[in-house]
Amino acid sequence: MQEIKIGLEVHVQLNTESKLFCSCSTSQAEPNTNVCDVCLGFPGTKPVLNEKAIELAMKIGYALDCKVNKKFLFSRKTYFYPDLAKNFQITQLETPIASNGKLKIGDRIIRIRRIHLEEDPAKIIRRDNCILLDYNRSGIPLVEIVTEPDLKLPAEARSFLQHLQQILEFIYVTDFNREGSMRVDANISITKYEPVYDYLKNGGMIKKLEGARVEIKNISGIKEVEKALSYEILRQKNLKQVVRETRLWNEKTKTTVSAREKEEEEEYGYIFEPDLPIIEIPEEMLNKVQSNMPELPESKKKRFLKYNISEEIIDTLLTDPELTHYFEYLCETHNEKASAVLLAKYLKKTLNYHNLKLKDVPIEVRQLRRILDLLQQYLIMDDMAEIILREMVNDYVKGKKIREPDQVLKDLNYEKPLEEEKIKKFVREVIRENTKAVKDYRNGEKKSLDYLIGQVMRKTGRRADAKKIKKLLKSELD
Ligand code: ADP
Ligand code: MG
Ligand code: ZN
Repeated sequence: MQEIKIGLEVHVQLNTESKLFCSCSTSQAEPNTNVCDVCLGFPGTKPVLNEKAIELAMKIGYALDCKVNKKFLFSRKTYFYPDLAKNFQITQLETPIASNGKLKIGDRIIRIRRIHLEEDPAKIIRRDNCILLDYNRSGIPLVEIVTEPDLKLPAEARSFLQHLQQILEFIYVTDFNREGSMRVDANISITKYEPVYDYLKNGGMIKKLEGARVEIKNISGIKEVEKALSYEILRQKNLKQVVRETRLWNEKTKTTVSAREKEEEEEYGYIFEPDLPIIEIPEEMLNKVQSNMPELPESKKKRFLKYNISEEIIDTLLTDPELTHYFEYLCETHNEKASAVLLAKYLKKTLNYHNLKLKDVPIEVRQLRRILDLLQQYLIMDDMAEIILREMVNDYVKGKKIREPDQVLKDLNYEKPLEEEKIKKFVREVIRENTKAVKDYRNGEKKSLDYLIGQVMRKTGRRADAKKIKKLLKSELD
């Protein structure tokens, strides 16, 4: 028997326009162009704290049910490495911006120990025995979200990260399309319980063997975290004794390799950052952030479940905050189920095909409402709704102006379904021309109805819905 404990340290890039301690841009650019004296660590330069980063970190704190600390300071974590020009990283040690939170996955509660702000070091690129450095990344604002070791399985760690990512997307603090926007250190220890038989004492007992904690550093991607942890469990299974150490995950070989024996925090020689003041968040700002918190996915899901919509469709809507906003707009005027299906099935399918998110494509709520109207009035069927959306997204992909749904129908030479009066006319004709089938139907032969539906369908040139023909036929015959 064994007990696995997993704790995660999740680094997330905050969505700010400028860096954490200087005004350099955070946008993607040619290497070493978004730099200045501060983020290159020139002597004599002083950091200036980015207020937006504090606000975003506070939002994460509230979303994860933390205590948000009103007063905090920054520290220097000193170490020597090429990615760190000034030989220390500005981070938070004693006073994180938020602490003691939790995240629920199903009926499991994973405790959040702390959330703190820190600056990213430069990016290291290894090429032909050289190390290249890109300082565009130096000073990018990160939050580190640290869990208690409450996770029990690699799959649970994956699920935790998926939930976390969803929450972070719904509160608009980060952009997961950016490369390296989430990096994870995964800690794991395995305690073994072994039966020991002691015949002198006339019986057995369970011996508890606590395994050392191993930290797998800097994993990108949620799936990779799960794989790295699964590999680590296998590796440790075959060891007599596990040493406490830091390991690295190699995505290519799908193995972890030892990086160094684990250092303790005191070895970093933390000192207070003397160039930054002790930060006190004004009550006003706390209230403002708290009252402007967007609704979290869990609460949205609870509300949506009250409609007559399958959980699967709701979960699809919840993969993208924009889809849920559109859904709520459509529900103001149209049937909830039809709205949800249009977004979660047809629109999402098309967006996925092009690897796009709804926020990338300027489709308007008004246009989606028009498609729902067309459906409601039986002027189009579901398959046509899907084709219209596909054409509209295609317009965007080709760099053209997105057409109106009616224009798409026109361009496709789409023939409207016939009006009810016309279908009725054909129905009567078919009844007149097929006396035998009509008689059979009236004598209880249900199959004859299908035959009659087929005959009407032929006359309409397939421009009518079978369900509608059936209804009209029955009202004439019964
Ligand atoms: P350090 O300061 O050495 O980085 P921390 O105590 O801050 O260690 O914990 C870092 C991470 O390791 C946290 O996510 C925590 O949940 C996790 N952790 C702590 N103890 C264990 C353990 N026994 N097994 C697995 N993970 C652990
Ligand atoms: Mg650590
Ligand atoms: Zn700078």
